Amino acid sequence: MNRYHRFVTNNYHFKPDEPEYWQTYLINNILLILIPIFLFLFFFNIFIQRWFIIIIIDVIAMLISLFLMLFFHKTNDVAKTSKFSVALYTSLMVAYVLISGPKDYAFAWILVLPPLSYFLLGRNAGRFVTMFSLIFIFVGILFFSLPWKSDTFNLVSFVNLLFATICVTILISFSELSRAKAYDFIQLKNEELMRLSHTDALTGISNRLKLDEVMMKELARVRRGTPHFSIIMGDLDLFKHFNDSYGHLVGDQILVEIASTIVPICRLTDTVGRWGGEEFLVICPETSTEGAMVLAEKIRKAVESLPLHRYGSVTISLGVTRSKTDDDINTIVMRADKALYIAKSDGRNQVRSMQSTLHQLSFDET
Ligand code: GH3
Ligand code: MG
Ligand code: MG
Repeated sequence: MNRYHRFVTNNYHFKPDEPEYWQTYLINNILLILIPIFLFLFFFNIFIQRWFIIIIIDVIAMLISLFLMLFFHKTNDVAKTSKFSVALYTSLMVAYVLISGPKDYAFAWILVLPPLSYFLLGRNAGRFVTMFSLIFIFVGILFFSLPWKSDTFNLVSFVNLLFATICVTILISFSELSRAKAYDFIQLKNEELMRLSHTDALTGISNRLKLDEVMMKELARVRRGTPHFSIIMGDLDLFKHFNDSYGHLVGDQILVEIASTIVPICRLTDTVGRWGGEEFLVICPETSTEGAMVLAEKIRKAVESLPLHRYGSVTISLGVTRSKTDDDINTIVMRADKALYIAKSDGRNQVRSMQSTLHQLSFDET
């Protein structure tokens, strides 16, 4: 069962929440069913029925199916394989109907075409292929089959088949429309949830989860050899005192203002987030300690000169450090914290950096 699953999903190339996963599943199953059927019909026609034109069609169809299966497993190209599969099915159906003559049970295979095309080709291409093939097939039946005056397929059968096919097409087009709308809606909600799960509710900047994710990615990039990144850890000075004097709600409002002061100072490629209560963290990709120190100083000045009306002013202390190849989140944040601690001990409203050599940490007075 596991091998079958691996095979029909092209070795789990797509995830189950992607539409391509189910298209891959269907294409492989269709091909898996078609190949033994052609093989059976091939031998059946060679030894029993001796219908040679069918033998040729069987061989061609079997080879095309095998080729499609190999092509699909090699390229994972759902769009191309879908087009070839629908073309293969349509040609086989037309060949079968033309060769076997006007028998109503042969025409029944037409009903498979609309759902197959819509599902594999999507709504727009599916609609186009369905309309085009059905007009072609029905006009063909009208011109070629009816004059044959078959006992089993007459004008009534034709009208029944035509309306049944139109009904199936309308139903499948509605079902595909509602599926597409539901999918878009879920995608939209997913994006919103993703955004919310990465956003700090108070300030609207990145939250701890997002900061962790960005640092993980940056650390992975550094390990692959890209330039180092730096982080800046900022902590508001004597904020407890501020809260005690003006109340927590005013304190919250100040945090929002400080967040919107820091964001425009940073580059778009930087990530600005709230690390904890009144602690902010900025991640600066491909940035040296010196570069990050310049940015930290800009932040310090901007916070210091932020007009807080009757609440006086607030200052921020900042610690800067650059990544090391063998860093993890804990070690790099710990260095930034140490630099911040030194900035606090040196009298607050300061920027300090903690530089890292390969084997030792050294405090770098700036
Ligand atoms: P220091 O200069 O040493 O940093 O002094 P501090 O008073 O700022 O001390 P600390 O960094 O430990 O800050 C903790 C205080 O920050 C406690 C609390 O009053 C305030 N604080 C933390 N989170 C929030 C928050 O979400 N909203 C508000 N209004 N205040 C917060
Ligand atoms: Mg703090
Ligand atoms: Mg503080």
